[in-house]
Amino acid sequence: MAKGKINVESKNIFPIIKKFLYSDQEIFLREMISNAVDATQKIKTLARTGKLDEELGDTTIQVSFDEKAQTITISDRGVGMTAEEVDKYINQIALSSAQEFVEKYKDADSDTLIGQFGLGFYSAFMVAEKVELVTKSWKKDAQPVKWECDGSPEYSIEETEKEERGTDVILHIGENGKEFLDDSRLLELLKKYSKFVPVPVQFGTEKVQEEIEGEKDEEGNPKTKEVEKPRLINNTEPAWTKAPAELSDEDYQNFYRELYPTTFEEPLFHIHLNVDYPFKLTGILYFPKIKQNLEVQRNKIQLYSNQVFITDSVEDIVPEFLTLLHGVIDSPDIPLNVSRSYLQSDSNVRKISNHIMKKVSDKLEELFKNDREDFQKKWDDIKVFIEYGMLSEEKFFDRAKKYTLLKNTEGEYYTLDEYKEKIKDNQTDKDGNVIHLYATDQETQYTYIQSAKDRGYDVLILDGPIDSHFVNLLEQKLEKSSFKRVDADVTEKLIPQQDEEMPSKLTDEQKEKLKPLFEEHADSSKFNVKFETMSESEMPVIITQDEFMRRMMDMQKTGGMNFMGGMPESYNLTVNENHPIINEIVEENDSEKQSKIVKQITDLALLSQNLLKGEELTKFIKRSVDNIR
Ligand code: ADP
Ligand code: MG
Repeated sequence: MAKGKINVESKNIFPIIKKFLYSDQEIFLREMISNAVDATQKIKTLARTGKLDEELGDTTIQVSFDEKAQTITISDRGVGMTAEEVDKYINQIALSSAQEFVEKYKDADSDTLIGQFGLGFYSAFMVAEKVELVTKSWKKDAQPVKWECDGSPEYSIEETEKEERGTDVILHIGENGKEFLDDSRLLELLKKYSKFVPVPVQFGTEKVQEEIEGEKDEEGNPKTKEVEKPRLINNTEPAWTKAPAELSDEDYQNFYRELYPTTFEEPLFHIHLNVDYPFKLTGILYFPKIKQNLEVQRNKIQLYSNQVFITDSVEDIVPEFLTLLHGVIDSPDIPLNVSRSYLQSDSNVRKISNHIMKKVSDKLEELFKNDREDFQKKWDDIKVFIEYGMLSEEKFFDRAKKYTLLKNTEGEYYTLDEYKEKIKDNQTDKDGNVIHLYATDQETQYTYIQSAKDRGYDVLILDGPIDSHFVNLLEQKLEKSSFKRVDADVTEKLIPQQDEEMPSKLTDEQKEKLKPLFEEHADSSKFNVKFETMSESEMPVIITQDEFMRRMMDMQKTGGMNFMGGMPESYNLTVNENHPIINEIVEENDSEKQSKIVKQITDLALLSQNLLKGEELTKFIKRSVDNIR
């Protein structure tokens, strides 16, 4: 038996591994499995290229635990190691890379390392007080060896007996890792990290019902019996590793369910990513239905490295808006043993991020071009995603503006350019701005919409959760275009044209007299009384809300502009100078009756904007009932 001391400087890495990484203890299993997978893939390559003298045999990786002996064992039939190789790879290389990792981890401060990848073999000491490695190399007549280390820098290495080629790693679990001596805990970890590793992994057995051939029960159904079968953990060929041409839509749907077994909602469509150069990246992204609530479905994108699960928090790898998508990304080229803040500045990661964004945009454009009708059907479900992307990434805006759609109250869809073309003759103001009219609620803004339509205007529906921000963006980006909600002004003034002013039935003097009557009934901190000439068919009093002020308030509500503080609500209470009732009020001599009519028409206007509430509303209803008795 040989004894040795692992590099002197390494003295302090064991306590650090044990304590420092406590929060991510569970990754030890991923590291052991991925080493077993690597060793198995190497032996398969040797066999394929005719370099292996013996049978390849069953290369299933076996995971087991023994509660009594307090051990977890990971066995593979991979390449194994000779004594020299153990010394080189385990005592030297693995150790120094673990040291490097620990150094980085210390520097990373509170900033976590992505997926804690790179600690490697020595992560075993997060849960084990002693690690045994029994290995026999594939090389002809190799002497099996046993390496043992108890987490102090001392190790021993000795000759041993081992029938088959490959490596057994036996973890003698310490106080730290007791929770892992448990069937369901281990199963959970295997399912989390090794669900798609490329070599079969078996963890114990499971009982399944199997049909007995040729035997039927009284009802003619095949009889079944319980049989014990190997419990296999993984799908070695997940959909993303295959060529898109090999996969049907159903395969993609099935894979979605494999990824998120507890989800029932079907994704709208998918994007298969496949890049070789300048970096390797594969994956499948799914578009979920996104409705009003951005948070609805929290299925996260999973990041893999060569089919080994790394993490499901990918914020630093893909642009933020893409985290709304579901699916997997697999790339061995993302540096996984660096801190998250470093990742963002890494040029490879930026390239990957831009590439994914481009792919997503290409897919959307393809859907739009190939089947516009279908794209329109999906539009309401993907609109938030696209708007969010356009708001957060300039590059995405430039791509997406081609296929971004606007929907009007008739349920028709137009691209930005098409829409401008459609309305420009009728809705250009005197300064040459094309005014896009929109409604955010077809129910409550019904009268305003109707009134705009009666004038021959077209009205858009912009009722999404971030539409107020989106409208701002479009105004900045599109030339000579502005947006106004239908209730931003009286219809006559929505699109200021050089039309002649409509003659008024009121003199200035009459207006002066009327004004205080209305002010008396409307809270002056909220309402600003104005007079406008409108057609007789419009309401006698109309409540409008200045576009700019309202937008500020909307953005405040959706959290975009906190610095505005508490901005007061403000409305215009506009009196229609030409309405017959207004004339009646002017001519009325009984001041009590005059006041009553003013009150009633003001309340009606408030009511139509949902602004009449509480006591005032109750009084209004009571008064209205009295009026008709
Ligand atoms: P990495 O996997 O990144 O190389 P590790 O610390 O996980 O780093 O492993 C270090 C080295 O030890 C491996 O590169 C490999 O040569 C060797 N090794 C570890 N586990 C096994 C195994 N099960 N079979 C064969 N070699 C192994
Ligand atoms: Mg490894």
